[in-house]
Amino acid sequence: SGWRVRSVPLRSPASATVKALRGPHGTAASSCESWLAQRRRSSGSRECVPSLGNATAATFHVTGAYWLYTRTRLGYMFYKRQLRKARERYPAGHSKTQTTIINGIKITPIPALSDNYSYMIVDTSSNFAVVVDPTDPQSVQAYLEEERVTLEAILCTHKHWDHSGGNRILRRLYNSCRVYGNNMDNIPGLTHPLADKDTIEIGTCLRFRAFYTPGHTVGHIIYLLDGRSYGGPSCLFSGDLVFLSGCGRMFEGSALTMLSSLDTVSSLNDETLLWPGHEYAEDNLLFAADVEPGNVAREQKLQWVLQQRSQRLCTSPSTLGEEKEYNPFLRSHTQGLQWALGLKQNPDEDWTAYRARVLEELRRRKDLYKRR
Ligand SMILES: [Zn+2]
Repeated sequence: SGWRVRSVPLRSPASATVKALRGPHGTAASSCESWLAQRRRSSGSRECVPSLGNATAATFHVTGAYWLYTRTRLGYMFYKRQLRKARERYPAGHSKTQTTIINGIKITPIPALSDNYSYMIVDTSSNFAVVVDPTDPQSVQAYLEEERVTLEAILCTHKHWDHSGGNRILRRLYNSCRVYGNNMDNIPGLTHPLADKDTIEIGTCLRFRAFYTPGHTVGHIIYLLDGRSYGGPSCLFSGDLVFLSGCGRMFEGSALTMLSSLDTVSSLNDETLLWPGHEYAEDNLLFAADVEPGNVAREQKLQWVLQQRSQRLCTSPSTLGEEKEYNPFLRSHTQGLQWALGLKQNPDEDWTAYRARVLEELRRRKDLYKRR
């Protein structure tokens, strides 16, 4: 079944109150990571381990700032402020995106904040729309009105405000819209709690499967649009679990937990298209170049990504087949990477435990990695 990619022009600013650009200073970044970075700069965060109601809390690297971000009103206020700043700084979005059309299903990345992507999935036969992680409710609303489609469901990967911040406003605007996510993650506006491998049907052509993938948060979920439901490739909306050549930070889980979630991704078909929650490709591939300098697939992808990013073009989607070749976080089983990290399996060490140790070391290096 043939499919085509159609370019769509940049949408006019969703915000009616776009002011003059404020100039180069003042980062518009607003993900959980940037919140932490800002807190660290401003207050030199003091370590504390809040109760997450989990026996493995001792293994978590949880700072007071992270607790404030996820558990209090301050996090939401921070997100709202960053949203305002980003709308001013990038009135047409941080990146230029394209709509992919496959057998009447349209997938459009919607840039938001400084590097987030929400994804709109529209079944053109019924005009039903689904949005994954509505970061900026204004841009989602603008899209729905422009395309004259009905928002049937919000698929939320996790609780962080840069992924779930639009849920409540959209629910208020479109009150028949369902909100999916995991109960354990305090998803705002949640109406349909999901368990591992639950399926979600939207109209006749869209069937999603939810996979429980903890590690970044305790209730993280990824969504697989089943290719068989519409006669195209399957599409994975991976939130903050997997990015192009990267993986999310392990805020609320051990390396072993994260490894098991990453293995869920690796078990999926190589033709699956990957639609991650952030535009991190360039940074991630430069880090990958550091740890696996001789990887030819990675070098080719890096050259392509540099070209795309020089024109601020979106780098989604890649395929899982590609990711398995260059994404170091999906390659903990390869000897080349293990050696590059200076690790060796201990004689009494279980293979999975060893791979978790490889992943932990990789994540540690990425956390410390500073570009240039
Ligand atoms: Zn997150």
